[in-house]
Amino acid sequence: MQTKVKIPKEIKIGTHTYKVIFDRSIRTDDDRIGETNHRTQVIKIWTEAPLSMQNETLLHELIHIAEYYFRVRIEDADIDRIAECICDFLFNNLGLGFDWSDIEEVNEK
Ligand SMILES: [Zn+2]
Repeated sequence: MQTKVKIPKEIKIGTHTYKVIFDRSIRTDDDRIGETNHRTQVIKIWTEAPLSMQNETLLHELIHIAEYYFRVRIEDADIDRIAECICDFLFNNLGLGFDWSDIEEVNEK
């Protein structure tokens, strides 16, 4: 049986707190699955992406936040590879799943 872990509406990285929202316009407007705005401290995940893609994208964006504050540079393709590896460990090895039910859709554009 899969253990579901609820994605919180706000995620803390270091001393920084980012809000997590669903947004359906980022794909159509910017051809993105996810994006992070460091000024507003908002992580947007494409509403209509498949679950596995949303899961990987959230981890991808969290690595971007760590990259930003910890002042390391990681190429975007390498971030994808790291996120996929973490997803593989969490979901395929530990049997976890993400529960997105608390995350709201906000379309700001
Ligand atoms: Zn990226």
